[in-house]
Amino acid sequence: MDPSITCPQSDELGNLCHRLAQAAGKWSRVSDWPRESLYQCGQAAVFKWFVPKSHGGFGWSDRDQTEGYLRLAESDLVTTFVITQYMGAIRRIAASGNTELAQTWLPRLMAGEAFATVGISHLTTSRRHLSEPVLKAKRVAGGFELSGMSPWVTGGSHADLLVVGATLNDGKQILVAVPGDAEGVDARPGVELVALSASCTDQVAFQNVRVDEGMLLGGPVENVLQSGVGARTGGLQTSTLAVGLSLAASKYLAKEAGTRSDLREPADRLSKDVNALRKKLLEACNGHSAEEASEIRAEANRLVLRSTQAALMAAKGAGFVEGHPVGRWCRQAMFFLVWSCPQPISHAHLCELAHGPVSLDLGSRDIHSQGSNS
Ligand SMILES: Cc1cc2nc3c(=O)[nH]c(=O)nc-3n(C[C@H](O)[C@H](O)[C@H](O)COP(=O)(O)OP(=O)(O)OC[C@H]3O[C@@H](n4cnc5c(N)ncnc54)[C@H](O)[C@@H]3O)c2cc1C
Repeated sequence: MDPSITCPQSDELGNLCHRLAQAAGKWSRVSDWPRESLYQCGQAAVFKWFVPKSHGGFGWSDRDQTEGYLRLAESDLVTTFVITQYMGAIRRIAASGNTELAQTWLPRLMAGEAFATVGISHLTTSRRHLSEPVLKAKRVAGGFELSGMSPWVTGGSHADLLVVGATLNDGKQILVAVPGDAEGVDARPGVELVALSASCTDQVAFQNVRVDEGMLLGGPVENVLQSGVGARTGGLQTSTLAVGLSLAASKYLAKEAGTRSDLREPADRLSKDVNALRKKLLEACNGHSAEEASEIRAEANRLVLRSTQAALMAAKGAGFVEGHPVGRWCRQAMFFLVWSCPQPISHAHLCELAHGPVSLDLGSRDIHSQGSNS
């Protein structure tokens, strides 16, 4: 058994990250669920970082969790992304006040002996334009009945427990834990995606699924995710993973610049920008406003695209060949354009992309005039 990783600066975390990075290229398609890397994280007690001491975890501070996630994401984005959804479920169980459920599930989940995930985006960033909720709940004797589907659930078909949100007829919402093998639950195996297919993300359908009152984590209330068991949509976690991936790309560029003098200036510039955002992110862990979180998210989205594409330009055609890490990073960077991206940020970024570069000083009037809209 690996020694537990008890702080984000530890050598053990460096060793784990090295192993994760070595295996990262294997997690490519739906058939490649990163079981082995998740197992290694479980053995190194990674899942305890995120759980309060009162529930048997290590209770790492937000800053330490962020540092930990940065290092994991730099090594292997697929496994780290799966962990965020897994920890999303664990965190909501721990925060729910449902002691019995927490005592039954948390020890196995923290040990990596059971896997849980979340299906909540239909309450925040997915299917919000539809007139009817995609997952409905109705009160029945002793609990609730769920009907409909949760459109995006990472690792749903691998989950022993699903933490899902659903809407009642009166508009109030509940958050419940549903065993993956409950009658009427149909977790699809995963769809092939532009990137992160191995996260096995897919719909989970619920056909008249009975959920006992004892599995309730929150609600019924309006906006259940803004209550104690709240989501961190648009919070720092998504940005953390984007900065982690940017670190991988900027370090690749810096390594190439070691033998290619023409790359030195852009490599230095990029690593300066990545480190500045990393610092800003870590500072924000001590307290931040919603505006600051949005600003960091917007910067992280820009940086992850910029850094991975700069790495691809340095890697040239070789980086464009399937299997090269830089090509994988470029595809993964696009994930941040769609993952849990609050509407105002996604709209602002869309406008920025549509407007094109404001000024490109390439010394040629023809090139300069292209795409310059403002
Ligand atoms: C790989 C991956 C893994 C994910 N994992 C999870 C997870 O584990 N748990 C979880 O809860 N969530 C997860 N998500 C969901 C994610 O956080 C976002 O909620 C999701 O990407 C939003 O995309 P959507 O297509 O559902 O958005 P929607 O807003 O539903 O858009 C879908 C389509 O509807 C149309 N549309 C959108 N807006 C309008 C409008 N205003 N008017 C008319 N038509 C419109 C467009 O044609 C659009 O293509 C995951 C997403 C991805 C890509």
